[in-house]
Amino acid sequence: MLSFPYRCDSVASVRHIANPPNPYERYSAEYVGEPPPTKLEIFEETATKKIITKAFASDWEGGWRYTVNCYRGCVHGCTYCFARQYHEYLGYGAGTDFETKIVVKPNAPHLLRAELKKCRDVMPHLDFSFATDPYLPIEAEYRLTRQCLEVCAEFRVPVAIVTKSPLVTRDIDLLKSLSKPSVFFSLPFLTKEKSNPFEPYTPVPEARFRAMRELSDAGITTGIGIAPVIPGYNEPDIPGLLERAKECGAERAFMSMLHIDTDSIEDYFVQKMNEHLPETRVRKIINMMGRERGGGLRHRTYKERMTGKTEQWEVTKKLFEFHSKRLGFKQSERAVVDRVESVTNTAEPIQQTLF
Ligand code: SF4
Repeated sequence: MLSFPYRCDSVASVRHIANPPNPYERYSAEYVGEPPPTKLEIFEETATKKIITKAFASDWEGGWRYTVNCYRGCVHGCTYCFARQYHEYLGYGAGTDFETKIVVKPNAPHLLRAELKKCRDVMPHLDFSFATDPYLPIEAEYRLTRQCLEVCAEFRVPVAIVTKSPLVTRDIDLLKSLSKPSVFFSLPFLTKEKSNPFEPYTPVPEARFRAMRELSDAGITTGIGIAPVIPGYNEPDIPGLLERAKECGAERAFMSMLHIDTDSIEDYFVQKMNEHLPETRVRKIINMMGRERGGGLRHRTYKERMTGKTEQWEVTKKLFEFHSKRLGFKQSERAVVDRVESVTNTAEPIQQTLF
């Protein structure tokens, strides 16, 4: 159950309501003329029943993946984000609704403690990510991710975090007290200019690198997720991203191909590309993705989800592997995603990608 809107903040002047039709709703509405501007709305979910989610894929170290998300929706608004589909389950849209209607789970720490009391013995590892960024700007006020990490420290559960936000550095003190923590920064683009069309409201890449440096200096294991690789767009960034990550103390790296899970996400992704990129570039990306996916932008099977099938993708993988090796990352084969881990950390679990 969602409570009455907790707060309505400023109108995001550059964003107008744009949501693909929700496949779970019988009717959808279209605006006549220009749609109205979006508003940031924050809802408190008063009836969350569970906080640990067992992921549908058994892709963590050969076992099941378990995730914790204290929020739903994400103001960072990455146009490729697969979590957009989860907003449709709530009756919202996968477009601007996902970016501006944020649902908060205030009882997340309480639930996590109760669940870990019952299942700590069989809980190998918890991932903070996969449905939202655990360090959204409102985390500065709600501190729910932090409180959940405190519970993890109490139960000594190994934790991995995937974020695009430097706010994670606020919790360095706590991360140091955790059992085997690792923090991955999702960094698929080297510059603000390259990032903007796909990550319009995220902290700029340089801010993410600075946060990575701060965490590494504090002794926390860090990594870079070059995800998604968008064919025909950011492959040339791969060597530079790995080099910057190494300079900032990262020990692990992975990459994965763009995956578009639903028609709604595809609609929104293409719409945003058309708004922000030249037509020739959009056509190139769509054509190259089509070759990887055997037609349209969507993958056909889960196995294909984060990887490609053409020689071009093999070249991209080799580029990643070559520079990873050159910089001292060690190759680690996994079924679903192409990634490497540090020579010095081969025994530790590796976080996969949200993207
Ligand atoms: S990819 Fe991550 S940061 Fe971007 S919108 Fe999705 S959850 Fe937020």
